[in-house]
Amino acid sequence: MGKEELSMGIVIKNVIAAVGDPATAKAVNLRIENGVISAVDEQPLPLSAGDTVVDGQGRFALPGMVNAHTHLPMSLFRSLADDVSLDTWLHKHIWPAEKRLTPDDVYWGSLLSLAEMIKGGTTQVADMYFHTDSIARAVSEVHMRATLSYGIVAGKLDEHGKDELGKARAAIERWHGASGGRIRTAVSPHAIYTCGMDVWTAAVDLAQRKHVPLHIHLSETRAEVAWAKEKWGDTPVAALDKLGVFSVPTIAAHCVHVTAQEMEILARRAVTVVHCPKSNAKLGNGHAPVVSLLNAGVNVALGTDGAASNNSQDMIEEMRMASLLQKEHLEDPTVLPAQEAAIMATRNGAEALGMGARRIAVGEDADIVLVDLSGVDTIPAYDPFSALVYAGHGSDVTDVIVAGEYLLRDRKLLTIDEERVKYEIGRRIGRLSAN
Ligand SMILES: [Zn+2]
Repeated sequence: MGKEELSMGIVIKNVIAAVGDPATAKAVNLRIENGVISAVDEQPLPLSAGDTVVDGQGRFALPGMVNAHTHLPMSLFRSLADDVSLDTWLHKHIWPAEKRLTPDDVYWGSLLSLAEMIKGGTTQVADMYFHTDSIARAVSEVHMRATLSYGIVAGKLDEHGKDELGKARAAIERWHGASGGRIRTAVSPHAIYTCGMDVWTAAVDLAQRKHVPLHIHLSETRAEVAWAKEKWGDTPVAALDKLGVFSVPTIAAHCVHVTAQEMEILARRAVTVVHCPKSNAKLGNGHAPVVSLLNAGVNVALGTDGAASNNSQDMIEEMRMASLLQKEHLEDPTVLPAQEAAIMATRNGAEALGMGARRIAVGEDADIVLVDLSGVDTIPAYDPFSALVYAGHGSDVTDVIVAGEYLLRDRKLLTIDEERVKYEIGRRIGRLSAN
């Protein structure tokens, strides 16, 4: 986008928008200028020459959705191995396939995920994987926001452990603040069962020195809790807290098996929990106590986890899963209403990652998504949040704007060559799935 284009505005007329905090649905007109929301008004807005005017009739405007935990390149393994135990899935299928990945595979796998995500209304992700340079190159080319990290796996801080820490540090030094500030970084000790205590301490030290958050997996399975009790002498959240891990801002995926005391620790340490309901359900890992976490004052965001376990990266589906699973488990239809699920998918993720629109309000970053609620799957949309969360689909998203720049317009990707991505994925699957 050229400089002259940046100074021109986008005006979205007559749109129902999730305005303010907590977000409520309201008919408004929006103006976007220089990457931020410059007007939100119930009255028609004056137009300037060169403005892009968008008719918002029948559509619902939301702050961009934040997929706060994923592994972008894992879309290469979508449907490679389903309906098996986590152990079989990892040891027999995913880890052998990951050994075959080249930096180019990771680049094209990332583009596949980014294409799917933008088409479904995601404007920002938190990713953890390896070949971080390839992922960062893809993210910067498509102009999404992302918090990227190298996933550290090391039993102790030996030569291999130091090498892993070195890769994590290199990713931060190379990519933090890149892509006009749309890329940030984090430090990712993968999990309590894949990193030794000295590795955790070194990771926390690195995050402190670089002023970046931690992005980790935490208390995903019962087996992990049993393992931590045996090896660390405590449950995972309590054990990491004692080690001082949460002295650094932390984004923790899953937190499925946490005690009331651990929820209190998560709240006190301002840890953001990233709920990944579909991945947890599909892998048979149980349900996270989301309502209790929210009641304890924990910031809970939403993520899809990788497409190898989900198998999609549709944040609307994730909102629906989050809400329905809590209602089902607690046998209470009043818990986690649609509006709250939408806030988890937008504001709570943006707060945790420290960038992007937290809400639709003047002065916020212009990360805006338009969802068509005039289709046969969603009308009549008496309540736009209900229509979105209980009836909508990623394919109902028509427009995606990040920092005032169009990435999807009338369902067409503007920064990704979709056909080329499909071709590049197609010519890789034989090699990646070979036994
Ligand atoms: Zn994960």
